Amino acid sequence: MNSINSSSISMTKKTLNPCTRCGQERVLQKTWKEDQITIMGKIQSVTFGQTICPNPDCQKIVDQEIKVLEEKQASLKKKRESNDFTRKKNSLEMANKARKNKSRI
Ligand SMILES: [Zn+2]
Repeated sequence: MNSINSSSISMTKKTLNPCTRCGQERVLQKTWKEDQITIMGKIQSVTFGQTICPNPDCQKIVDQEIKVLEEKQASLKKKRESNDFTRKKNSLEMANKARKNKSRI
């Protein structure tokens, strides 16, 4: 709508939360409140905000990049877990074998 205005603003205004792709100041998409328990044991409502890039096309790519990154991390985690599982299974099999050998004697 007023893209010329917003670009001139971003020139003078310091961007606090720039988009990782285009560097434009991200806009607040939504806010929500969540109750959190403080160290003192009291319940305190904290306001959270989600910001998006003013450029929907850019935001779409950012979303995609985040998704890819999350999937990569998830698969890495899964791999690590399965490695742990194999290691545990192997050590269990070794222990079982050792036990069997002992019982034979
Ligand atoms: Zn952007």
